[in-house]
Amino acid sequence: MIHPELNLKCRQTGKRAPVLRLTPTAWAKLLFLRDLGETEVGGFGIAAADDLLRIENVELVRQSCTPASVAFDDESVADFFDRQVDAGHRPEQFGRVWVHTHPGNGPEPSTTDEDTFARVFGRTEWAVMFILARGGASYARLAFHVGPGGSLLIPVEVDFGWEFPATNHAAWQEEYHAYVNEAVPVGNVLGPSFIDDWPGGWGGFLDDELLGIRPRNQERQPDALPF
Ligand SMILES: [Zn+2]
Repeated sequence: MIHPELNLKCRQTGKRAPVLRLTPTAWAKLLFLRDLGETEVGGFGIAAADDLLRIENVELVRQSCTPASVAFDDESVADFFDRQVDAGHRPEQFGRVWVHTHPGNGPEPSTTDEDTFARVFGRTEWAVMFILARGGASYARLAFHVGPGGSLLIPVEVDFGWEFPATNHAAWQEEYHAYVNEAVPVGNVLGPSFIDDWPGGWGGFLDDELLGIRPRNQERQPDALPF
């Protein structure tokens, strides 16, 4: 589904349609994390300040994972947000691109993924769900929640056009073991609702301002769209 205004805007400005780009380092880290275990692994894409769809890093938070789900720990998400703010990043740089892997070959979002994306990111002005499957296939969807709303599938590219740091397998492995816990299956592992994915939805730890969400009854300039 293509957002009609986006098409119009692209034709008028001559700008390229949005593309999710990962630096080679971010891409390498995601591949490495994906292949460390047999479960899904999730995190946040950290975007460049001047290009909100150029992902320079992928960072994990504490999570319970199964082969079919990732549930983030609310408190760990709050800590991650605090660290990012302390590092001088804006909420649009670190809280809008939800990244996770699929241990199988299919990158298409599950019903649980869709529920999580709608519940957790539905109040932001825009957000991206990016899934990388073990076979190498990926899925990225940019969703808008302003105006009439809408969403579109966007291509994913590895961007070699910028300086990028070296890989650091030891640090990545340490991050994985610090944050990723394999959930003990309860009930029917194959059922999509076997675990209530990300139950708190960031709970009460974060206020709307930190999330970059415009308060309902307060005027604020809308965020720049990510392209
Ligand atoms: Zn998934």
